Amino acid sequence: MSHPLGPDYIRAIAPYQGGKPIAEVAREFGLDEAKIVKLASNENPLGMPESARKAMAGVADGGRYPDGNGFELKAALTEKYGVPAEWITLGNGSNDILELAARAFVQTGQSVVYAEYSFAVYPLATQAVGARALVVRAKDYGHDLDAMLAAIEDDTRLIFIANPNNPTGTFIPGEQVEAFLKKVPAHIVVVLDEAYTEFLSAEQQYDSIAWVAKYPNLLVSRSMSKVYGLAGLRIGYGIAQAGITDLLNRIRQPFNVNAFAQAAAIAALRDTDFVARSATLNAAGYRQFTTAFDEMGLQYVPSSGNFVLVKVGEDAGAGARVNLALLKQGIIVRPVGNYGLPQWIRISIGLEQENTLCIAALKKALV
Ligand SMILES: *Cc1c(COP(=O)(O)O)cnc(C)c1O
Repeated sequence: MSHPLGPDYIRAIAPYQGGKPIAEVAREFGLDEAKIVKLASNENPLGMPESARKAMAGVADGGRYPDGNGFELKAALTEKYGVPAEWITLGNGSNDILELAARAFVQTGQSVVYAEYSFAVYPLATQAVGARALVVRAKDYGHDLDAMLAAIEDDTRLIFIANPNNPTGTFIPGEQVEAFLKKVPAHIVVVLDEAYTEFLSAEQQYDSIAWVAKYPNLLVSRSMSKVYGLAGLRIGYGIAQAGITDLLNRIRQPFNVNAFAQAAAIAALRDTDFVARSATLNAAGYRQFTTAFDEMGLQYVPSSGNFVLVKVGEDAGAGARVNLALLKQGIIVRPVGNYGLPQWIRISIGLEQENTLCIAALKKALV
């Protein structure tokens, strides 16, 4: 299938498997699109904030190139976080930031450290530059930071940490992350991927942006796809000192973030009501799912994100089987066999009614 002239390390890549689109499931299973519930991609079930919709509609002309430097959006981020614009990199989704980090800091043959059961883009970004992955065994489905430190080799140039982690939802307290940063050699860049940080409880929250001033090798990555509801627009950002940011800026596409996404992001960042409402809805939905799992006697990993990983059987076919049984009922979740978790599925937390339908379908799928 893959062209023989492609480098071996590119041909070895397993393509990213996303959540199935609603239209595809409707076609494959002969279902009505309107009745399908998609809880597969950790999107915000409220959709885009109204403020962002309005801002997007106000973009004068899609026939003009966007501001390639994202002046106004960076100004909004500067206002929010108190960091200089020279510390901000905008990305076409935070996925872009993760890839830019690998391309900017890792040469072919060098190594990258990340955890087992962590985000699927880390192996992709690593392999795309022909680097070696040092995958560190998870501890209780989350990152084992001591083992990650011990895994560092002479040629390690990058470490990916997801906090909270996807697909497991595990969380590392801020003090532990900072203790880790203190011990990582200065020539290794640490990408702290915080796509779900806005869902953290008040007790869990920590100030990673303040760490950027202390650690010249830290790159904090944030997404607008999850709590901010802009997944379809593709927008995220990285915050790091000017030295890192300068390199990312040299290799990014000149117009990597489109005009509609920039306008929508400015509005969404300021829409604190929407963020609060989304986090509250998520907390209620999480209780709804975990209460049902407890009643059903299902094991789950306590999650700090907007999704939950639940074990649906003991055999290696369980996740795929239950996933199919749910698809037939019009419920799209995420099988996670590709993460090495074939007995589990990951369910994104939806609206109350969507969660109810998912729980009912899961009960049927498990009999
Ligand atoms: C969803 C996700 C991202 C990337 O999201 P974008 O849509 O590209 O911003 C990054 N990291 C983790 C852990 C995620 O779950």
